[in-house]
Amino acid sequence: MSRIESEALVVRTVEVGDADVIATLFTSQAGKLSAIVRGARKGSRRVGGALEPVHTIAVLLEDRGAELVTLKESRIVKTRAGVVSSLDTLDAAGVALRWARHLFPPRTPEPEGWRILIELLDVLDSGHAAPRTELARAGLAMLAAVGYGLDLGRCVVCGRACPEGKAACIDPARGGLVCRACGGAVTVLLPEVQRAARALMEGRTAEVSADQAEAILAIVDRAMAAHAGFER
Ligand SMILES: [Zn+2]
Repeated sequence: MSRIESEALVVRTVEVGDADVIATLFTSQAGKLSAIVRGARKGSRRVGGALEPVHTIAVLLEDRGAELVTLKESRIVKTRAGVVSSLDTLDAAGVALRWARHLFPPRTPEPEGWRILIELLDVLDSGHAAPRTELARAGLAMLAAVGYGLDLGRCVVCGRACPEGKAACIDPARGGLVCRACGGAVTVLLPEVQRAARALMEGRTAEVSADQAEAILAIVDRAMAAHAGFER
């Protein structure tokens, strides 16, 4: 048996039996893990109240190499009241945590994915950000972190560069643009959306309009679904 001490985010909880909970955790040290939390619903003092999503918690886990680890202790180390205070920020956080649950493989440390999620939750908590734009930025970065980054500069089949300022065809499931010679794709990526996505990848969120953020989110969502195998 080994012990895992880590910071973590709760990405899902499912009630089992009378008192227990299975929590899907995204941990900074060991990536995604499913943990049984005994007595969670009887107000156990060692884990009580610490299974809220959006807050960063510290966990002590017992790992016997089985599918489920056992959560022995948890406590909140950073609350994010600002995320919970608005439906828009709470929704953006929820989408990102669901992406993490589907996209990251179990028991695989994802330090870059961890950094992206924490940065998103902190900026949502600050109240000074456009939630959907920040979510789009995080989505592009999460895809890149696991090797599914979208290529918006060239055809993913033949590698030919896409001319600047022209509409292009994009197939999110194949990872980016597909030129007409290579068969094209159903979805058209407008030049301004292409520019906006590039701005997000470079961290220039202020240049991106709400409509552009929605167009990028639609593309990110389809790429997530294709790679992680889930339907919305
Ligand atoms: Zn091509």
